[in-house]
Amino acid sequence: MNNTGEEWYANIIIDISHEKVDRPFQYKIPRALQDKIKVGMEVIIPFGRGNAKRHGYVIEVTNQAECAIERLKEITDLVIDSVSLEANLIQLAGWMKETYGSTMIAALKTVLPAKQKYRAIEKKTVHLLLSISEAEELVQYYKKKHQVGRERLLTQLMIEQDLPQELITGRLQVPVKTIQAMAEQGILQVIVQSNYRNPILHPSAKEEKKRLSAAQQAIVEDVLSGVPLSLIHGITGSGKTEVYMEIIAGMIDRGKQAIVLIPEIALTYQTVLRFYKRFGERISVMNSKLSAGERYDQFERARHGELDIIIGPRSALFTPFSNLGVIIIDEEHENSYKSETMPRYHARETAIQIASMYGASVVCGSATPSLELYYMTKQGKCRLYELQERLTGGTLPKVYTVDLREELKRGNRSIFSRQLSDLIAERLESGQQSMLFLNRRGYAGFISCRACGHVMKCPHCDVSLSEHKNGRLTCHYCGYEEPMVSHCPKCGSKYITGFKAGTQQIVETLQKQFPGVRVLRMDADTTRTKGSYEKILSSFANGEADILVGTQMIVKGHDFPNVTLVGVLAADLSLCSNDYRAGERTFQLLTQAAGRAGRGQLPGEVVIQTYQPEHYSIVHAAKQDYKGFYEEEILYRELMSYPPIAQMMVVLISSKEEEKGLQLARKLATRLEEQSTVYVDQRSGRRRCQVVGPAKASIGKIQDIYRTVLYVKHPEYEVLITMKDQLELYTKTMELKTETIQFDFNPMNTY
Ligand code: ADP
Ligand code: ZN
Ligand code: ZN
Repeated sequence: MNNTGEEWYANIIIDISHEKVDRPFQYKIPRALQDKIKVGMEVIIPFGRGNAKRHGYVIEVTNQAECAIERLKEITDLVIDSVSLEANLIQLAGWMKETYGSTMIAALKTVLPAKQKYRAIEKKTVHLLLSISEAEELVQYYKKKHQVGRERLLTQLMIEQDLPQELITGRLQVPVKTIQAMAEQGILQVIVQSNYRNPILHPSAKEEKKRLSAAQQAIVEDVLSGVPLSLIHGITGSGKTEVYMEIIAGMIDRGKQAIVLIPEIALTYQTVLRFYKRFGERISVMNSKLSAGERYDQFERARHGELDIIIGPRSALFTPFSNLGVIIIDEEHENSYKSETMPRYHARETAIQIASMYGASVVCGSATPSLELYYMTKQGKCRLYELQERLTGGTLPKVYTVDLREELKRGNRSIFSRQLSDLIAERLESGQQSMLFLNRRGYAGFISCRACGHVMKCPHCDVSLSEHKNGRLTCHYCGYEEPMVSHCPKCGSKYITGFKAGTQQIVETLQKQFPGVRVLRMDADTTRTKGSYEKILSSFANGEADILVGTQMIVKGHDFPNVTLVGVLAADLSLCSNDYRAGERTFQLLTQAAGRAGRGQLPGEVVIQTYQPEHYSIVHAAKQDYKGFYEEEILYRELMSYPPIAQMMVVLISSKEEEKGLQLARKLATRLEEQSTVYVDQRSGRRRCQVVGPAKASIGKIQDIYRTVLYVKHPEYEVLITMKDQLELYTKTMELKTETIQFDFNPMNTY
């Protein structure tokens, strides 16, 4: 903003809360304040009929008056040094708006929880009243009666004796009703406390602090000395969580708080319990199933200083701690850290921004870091620590790669290679467990005609339909269904089939090949109902099945010490998706899958079945060699100008009419081309900005809305933001009726 004589206006919200952000009030900025007022600042304004002085927050500064200028009042004054939490949140929203191209309101709604009446929450702890042998007897009884919830709760209480009720109803999925019923029977007791500050876990249940290894200790000390951004590269079991906890303890000693981000799927009972045992009750756990009110309560507890630690998925980032010390991001490479709705923020980037506002540190951890973050370590923008050894004992598994083309040549048409079959048989004999992983990420289980190549597609969404057991073809986007066809609708051939290796077919093949085998299946279908995910995991952990078959869900989270064999059935299915991250994703999934074998005392073996055994993602994953993979992958990104070497902006144009959408896309492409000509390399004269497209999106239609995409690449993020702003100004001059334009930066998923 400058003093050019132009008038400037501020949009101000009086009561900062989720519902009120839609109704900002506009005020004139007096000349004297023009250079001072910024988004997020607290100001004093005359409000209402009596012009009473109220405090408000600036959420936007603009030179567009929303009504007749005479009717606008002026801001009275600025509240100097207002470093309130609210101001920080608004500033953060402002940053998100700029960085991710969203609206201010969408950004504000992301950082502010919906307001609810704050109630002081009572802390409830469930305490076991029976002796262990009495409990043991009762567990057997519940087992016989198939009272699984009771059985699960009692089994855990035998181990811990005291458990926070929220952990039982949340992660253990046991309803309050059950707890009450068991309390009435004198099996357990619910202890209610309203004072949060006294840790009330049974002293014997407290987790012993581990003596850190020299490598762990060095990381903790370094981070606590004030390193703003760091990455701990270490395989699962190398002691990262122990390091996180020690860093958090150090922060709490300094009177600071911690946010711990864990992908939702890895937020298991075991993980959360570990934190409870170490830190007592000043922890809260968030998950995406919380209601707006529950989330608000947690944020209020944080605001009132009742919490030191919040653990949760990406939205836990917005916990309003007054003195934040550290943000920990475990499994930093996970896709779920990027929001799929506006603002399309990435948790790591946003964490770095938040940390810079509070002077806090960000600590990331992963066995397979994202290319983005590892690249930053190479550029000196992020400190790299390595933890090499597995502390739980157990050696790295032996990995075999099987070429499926060779199998076919030798006449083996089964979905299991001979080697995998033999190893499964061995495990069944010795009573050890196996996991079979079907890598379907980015792959749609389509039905195609072997004679003419016709693929069965959804008439509304342009994605292939998948075959279901009930004999119907279903669209996974809109739910459209039609009966399975017996002949190709195009050429009439009867050879129309699917890629016969859904998890269900694998289970059927196993049952045929190994009669009597006990198999559990875990995929999107079997985990639809609440709690089913944890149920499958715990029954596998209890040895109720020999083999767990599943999609990428099974490669995360839980530890199964009795699993000594992991089979990856079609490693390259995820290489086939049309996404520049396909290689990275394949490497991550295969490395994680391989890491599931041999976690206990027994050595593990891994079989990777693939049609492309020479692909570098597969070669390096088989060797568990991240650095080797990184070196090849980064060359490819460089060659193609993909992130993290270049930055990428996606412009998604949606339209009810295909032709109109395409026309608009062409217009925007031309405009972007014109804009991009100013970005040339001074020395070589070469263009630094590339505009790609327009192209039909890989999902060309969703619910009858046509989607067209444009990609813009440039080495600098700021340039893309500028181009986006210019494009938005340009489109404001058009009268768009049915078309919408959305932006996404460095996307994690295909469009
Ligand atoms: P990660 O988070 O990398 O998977 P964890 O921190 O969970 O690793 O550590 C793996 C296992 O090793 C855990 O059971 C943990 O208690 C144990 N562990 C970690 N650090 C130490 C240590 N310094 N001494 C002994 N055991 C440790
Ligand atoms: Zn056909
Ligand atoms: Zn559809």
